[in-house]
Amino acid sequence: MSDIRILCIEDNAENRLLVRRILEAEGFSVLEATDGPSGLESAAQMRPDLILLDINLPEMDGYDLARRFRNTPGLQQVPILAVTANVMQGDRERSLEAGCDGYIQKPIDVDRLPEQVRAALQKTGTERQV
Ligand code: MN
Repeated sequence: MSDIRILCIEDNAENRLLVRRILEAEGFSVLEATDGPSGLESAAQMRPDLILLDINLPEMDGYDLARRFRNTPGLQQVPILAVTANVMQGDRERSLEAGCDGYIQKPIDVDRLPEQVRAALQKTGTERQV
């Protein structure tokens, strides 16, 4: 089991379960949060190595949340991958502007998610031995 911890912030239970299954099978530890406030709290307490951030969350959307992470001491460097079903042009730019490091389109591709996560960890120099 690796000590790399991924925080999945996602309001949809099926998607959380999917992410958990895929990433645990690859040896990552998966933490879950269902909305912005609990995601912020979990991140501050758990200091995850990477955050998978659903953009479409109730109340506080993922863009707002990403900006908050970037303004929270200790969380500024944590890589964030935005996850969204929205295929509107400009979403990628919006997520990057909000402070995300990358962008994953829903539906989540079971075969590609592990490599997308590893790439984000490597890009930000986070990856240890998996
Ligand atoms: Mn959602």
